[in-house]
Amino acid sequence: MDLPHFDGWHLLGAFPDGAPDDIGSWLLAHDGEALLLEVPPGLTVRGVRAALKRVGTKLRFVTASHSHEDHLDPEVWAALGKAFPKAEFLHPASVSGDRRLTIGGEPLWLVKAPKHSADDVVTVFRGVAMTGDIELGMLGSVNDEVPLPIRVQSLNRLAGFPDRSGYRVHTVVSAHLNDCRVSIRWSELFRFPRSDPGMGRRGQCRSYGCWGPLVVPDEPGLMAAAGFGTGFDVLCENCGSPDWSNPRAK
Ligand SMILES: [Zn+2]
Ligand SMILES: [Zn+2]
Ligand SMILES: [Zn+2]
Repeated sequence: MDLPHFDGWHLLGAFPDGAPDDIGSWLLAHDGEALLLEVPPGLTVRGVRAALKRVGTKLRFVTASHSHEDHLDPEVWAALGKAFPKAEFLHPASVSGDRRLTIGGEPLWLVKAPKHSADDVVTVFRGVAMTGDIELGMLGSVNDEVPLPIRVQSLNRLAGFPDRSGYRVHTVVSAHLNDCRVSIRWSELFRFPRSDPGMGRRGQCRSYGCWGPLVVPDEPGLMAAAGFGTGFDVLCENCGSPDWSNPRAK
C-alpha cells in the first residue's frame, strides 16, 4: 500500500520480508531524538543505526504495539538493548493508562487499550496514531485473548483520548501497513455496530454506578465466542457487562 508522508514518521521498512501485510518499523523523530516503534523479526541493529544516521537523530525509546512475536521479536529486542544501552525500552506490557513521553519537545502518547491482545498499545505522535493490530469499528478480533468487557472498555478509552489529552489525531495507520485512513473522525473508529434491544428503561446496565445503555452487538456469534452463557444477548455499551434482554431466557 502507498502510504502518505507523515511528518516526523520515518519508515525503516516492512518486516520480515517487505511482503504485503508485513510489519512496519518506524522511527518517530523530532529535534534530534527518536522512538523506535515495532521490533519485528528481521529488523537488525545495523538497519536501525543506518536509519538513525539518515534521519540524524539519537535513539531515546524503543517500544512495540503489543508483544505478539511478529511485532516484538525477543531476540531483536535483546540485541537492540545491548547496542543502545542508553535508550529506554518500554515493553508494551509495562505501559498503563495514557503514558506521555517527549521526543525532542514533541509529545508522544502510548495509550494502553487491550482489544486484540492483552498488551495492545496505540502510539500517537504528530497527529498520527499507529493502532497496532486493533480492529477498528468492531468488537470482534482475530483471536479471543481479551475478554469482551475489556474490549468494550478499551474502545471507550481510545474514543475518549482526544478529550482526556486535548490532542487531535487526523490519521491512523495499522501495524501491518494494510490500513491507513486520513482525515478521520477519531471517535467513530472505536464504535462497534450495535442496535437497541428495545428494553425501555430496563435497558440499563446493572453494574453498580454504571447505568450505561444495554445494546445488541451486531456481530454474529460474538457473545457466544466470548464464552457468555445462553441467554446473554446484550452488553453494556459503557462497561461491557453482559446481560439478557429476556429475563426468562436465563
Ligand atoms: Zn497481533
Ligand atoms: Zn500482527
Ligand atoms: Zn455498565
